[in-house]
Amino acid sequence: MRVSAVIASLQRCISSILCVFARVFSKYNYWTTGACTGTSTAVLAAGSKVDQNTEQNRTTPTSVNYHFTRKCNYKCGFCFHTAKTSFVLPLEEAKRGLRLLKDSGMEKINFSGGEPFLHDRGEFLGQMVQYCKLDLQLPSVSIVSNGSMIREQWFQKYGDCLDILAISCDSFNEETNQLIGRTQGRKSHLDSLYKIRNWCQQYKVAFKINSVINTFNIDEDMTENIIQLNPVRWKVFQCLLIDGENAGEAALREAERFVISDQQFQEFLDRHSSVSCLVPESNEKMRNSYLILDEYMRFLDCREGRKDPSKSILDVGVKEAICFSGFDEKMFLKRGGKYVWSKGDMKLEW
Ligand code: SF4
Repeated sequence: MRVSAVIASLQRCISSILCVFARVFSKYNYWTTGACTGTSTAVLAAGSKVDQNTEQNRTTPTSVNYHFTRKCNYKCGFCFHTAKTSFVLPLEEAKRGLRLLKDSGMEKINFSGGEPFLHDRGEFLGQMVQYCKLDLQLPSVSIVSNGSMIREQWFQKYGDCLDILAISCDSFNEETNQLIGRTQGRKSHLDSLYKIRNWCQQYKVAFKINSVINTFNIDEDMTENIIQLNPVRWKVFQCLLIDGENAGEAALREAERFVISDQQFQEFLDRHSSVSCLVPESNEKMRNSYLILDEYMRFLDCREGRKDPSKSILDVGVKEAICFSGFDEKMFLKRGGKYVWSKGDMKLEW
């Protein structure tokens, strides 16, 4: 009896010691290989398999959206990246971050805001576009803008380095644009849109249109206008609520009155089924399928219906920050996030 009690006690002891080792070992791997790999302890214990699996599971920032400014001259009622700060990184710091992203596998950068042409009258943006194309040699450099601040001189200076310019337009009726807030004073949003479309043609930049479908434009038929403008892509988004941006107490906008149902969104898509360049994006597809960097170069995680920031890639590097991005790579691929994105490969007639 006594001998068996001693053996049992020894077994418990050994088992506890092994347990402690396993915990320490798994913690060590957690911090050295990254928290977001989803690798189980069982696999971690399998020696050389560790590196292989973690490398395969690690998120690559193939396509990044850098919202370097939150300031905008428009007041769209559903805006989901609002002017909560006026901060913009110094140019050299922004370039350092872009270099870090490139070294981690970035192939496409999209500059967005706020209105990206507002800061330093588009010079800051132009310098980053040039840096990404000429120094970093990125296959794709693009911008999303409301179009109101773009001047022809910008195309003359930086057009060569830009692959795609997307202009936001939710309606071909000026009154609707006024109601949405997609305008500045009496300036015509549509005049800017057509002017920029021609400049894109002239300076060989692929032209794209983004539209947010909401209660104000849900019944519109935009087929003719879109076919006439002939963009390479027409991205059609379902109006999305983000807590702290356009919904909830801390928000600068109240977008509830703009929200449409999934069925209404589908009806809009059906009405435009003859437009071949249409790329639809429902709330479900949109929420976690973008890698978003804010003005401090922090990834924003939208999984909880709000924007939770990571630490800045400038402080902790891309590998650590991206673990807190909430990015759903499968959904990114499902929504067609990877497409022909270099203007040289698009076979366009300029
Ligand atoms: S154009 Fe409208 S949606 Fe875009 S940043 Fe400005 S206010 Fe927001």
